[in-house]
Amino acid sequence: MTQDATQGRPDIARRGLILILSSPSGAGKTTLTRAIAQRPEWGLDLSISVTTRSRRPSEIDGRDYRFIDREAFEDLRTRDDLLEWAEVHGNFYGTPRRPVEKTLSQGRDMIFDIDYQGTRQVRQRLQDDVVTVFILPPSFAELRNRLERRAEDAPETIERRLANARNEMQRWSEYDYVIVNDDLDESFRALQSILAAERLKRTRRTGLPGFVDGLLAEAGRSA
Ligand code: 5GP
Repeated sequence: MTQDATQGRPDIARRGLILILSSPSGAGKTTLTRAIAQRPEWGLDLSISVTTRSRRPSEIDGRDYRFIDREAFEDLRTRDDLLEWAEVHGNFYGTPRRPVEKTLSQGRDMIFDIDYQGTRQVRQRLQDDVVTVFILPPSFAELRNRLERRAEDAPETIERRLANARNEMQRWSEYDYVIVNDDLDESFRALQSILAAERLKRTRRTGLPGFVDGLLAEAGRSA
């Protein structure tokens, strides 16, 4: 991957964007999100959500989520410190507002792993700066397999997530792009293409008018 393929010309200023990935549990969205955020060449900061869910054994507080109790969550909500929030599978999840504002104001991009309820709220607030991608599993049987293989949740939790998956999958048509995650490498490439194209969008590139003015001035001098 070259710098130009994903970043556009870094010398031409543009507004930062928010890339939102949503999917039912087990479709691979979290794997995709983390892997991308770990590669500096993608130039994406990961938004770390707060949640009232209990920590899974493999998770680290502050890396995967900030695990907080309901009272602390309520506090954040009433102080308007959350850009969006939602109740998912009986727990509360939310996106802290300040890191997002900081990243965007620096013209950098951010990636969110949030559900459809949160996506609606972010879209309402930030509109054109939001790009949304829905990840689908190749089949429902594969979704079940992945949740069972993960073996980090209790069987009743898995059943609940599968029941919710039907509801979540029906939201696919609210998203800009849809990826069927059959093969992780292929899904990566698809996501990279989406990001590259969105970064090149004329309307995001605030530096283009100045760049073109410069080109025209140069053209005038050489005429
Ligand atoms: P999990 O408990 O499996 O980590 O996440 C459950 C669901 O909550 C996933 O669909 C995930 O995308 C969503 N989620 C995680 N963080 C947030 C958040 O900050 N806001 C919203 N609205 N959903 C979130």
